[in-house]
Amino acid sequence: MPKPLMETYAPPEQIFERGEGVFLYERSGEEYLDFISGIAVNGLGHAHPKAVAALKAQAEKLWHTSNMFRVPGQIELAEKYCRDSFADRVFFTNSGAEAIECALKTARHYHYANGQPDRYRIVTVTGAFHGRTYGAINAGGNPKYLEGFGPRMEGFDQIEFGDHDALRAAVTDQTAAVLVEPVQGEGGVREIPEVCLRGLRELCDERGALLIYDEVQCGAGRTGKLWAHHWAGDAAPDIMAVAKGVGGGFPLGACLATDACGEHMVVGTHGSTFGGNPLAMAVGNVVYDELTREGFLDHVVEISNFLRQQLGSVADAHSDKVEEVRGKGLLLGLKLREGYVNKTLAKHARDHHLLIGAAGDNVARMAPPLIIEEAHARRAVETLDAALGALQPE
Ligand SMILES: *Cc1c(COP(=O)(O)O)cnc(C)c1O
Repeated sequence: MPKPLMETYAPPEQIFERGEGVFLYERSGEEYLDFISGIAVNGLGHAHPKAVAALKAQAEKLWHTSNMFRVPGQIELAEKYCRDSFADRVFFTNSGAEAIECALKTARHYHYANGQPDRYRIVTVTGAFHGRTYGAINAGGNPKYLEGFGPRMEGFDQIEFGDHDALRAAVTDQTAAVLVEPVQGEGGVREIPEVCLRGLRELCDERGALLIYDEVQCGAGRTGKLWAHHWAGDAAPDIMAVAKGVGGGFPLGACLATDACGEHMVVGTHGSTFGGNPLAMAVGNVVYDELTREGFLDHVVEISNFLRQQLGSVADAHSDKVEEVRGKGLLLGLKLREGYVNKTLAKHARDHHLLIGAAGDNVARMAPPLIIEEAHARRAVETLDAALGALQPE
């Protein structure tokens, strides 16, 4: 049977028609507790009244002009991003992969503009995920995502996650930048220890390389700080790619940079038809205001501590099947023991009306809306308990 869609996904049978807060609903009315939120996207939950109102109001005024004309919402949102971060300049995109592309171009262009055009190599770590464009799959280095798409792009070096010696050897006078996720999402919900981020910052400074963070998944309040690297104190990047959570469900991403890097991205160096479009800006501003509202991130820290502790108990109770609890804030994973399969656990959970995801390294991934309450965490953990109980080796 010919199908109209490219079969790049394998979705389950559920079809969701409506969302509200932390729940999704099928047409039949069946309710599901959403502990994956479109993979760390719907941080404010579904149909957040302020986001809905902002989108509706903008939809009635103006949808699109392209970047031929100024979009006032861009300046407003960029000022907010810069106010609360290392950044001085922002480029808006529609997705994470585009934010990564802009970050890579910005890094290379910095060295080019400073008379070092041969300094173009990008160092990444195993388990990385940076998106599905050509640049992003070559940066990510996952052989599964590269296979069948022609020769590897020149200029990317990958070292083993956590191998400090290899890192020191890989960052040379040809290295434009080191690109890492402070907390790996797709690769198995793996955190880079804060002390290592600080060490990485020092190494980059020592060698004259730039530091790029991919906070597409771990940013936007997900770990309990606005940006995940804020936990590490003095480890600010030169460039940062964000997306997913910053749009709360509306396609939005951004590349943030210091003045030193961003100033070279002048007319003709980069562009996007849709990036920073008025609809995205209307929603992005509301999402940002909510994330930075007094007490919002405190709630994320509190509820994530609670959830993690509860998950710890469930992991202990099923220690024959669960190796460990991983992650940071509300980006959490259960690493399953060999013989047990994360996707099967996600299916069992779904059968019990709990939605979770699967990540690399046989990890069941959770990234609930940041607005969950204790009752939701309890319900999720009870369901996981049952799902783990039903999980058979395969
Ligand atoms: C999802 C993701 C991307 C890619 O984002 P898209 O919006 O799917 O292009 C890049 N980096 C990380 C860390 C991600 O989790």
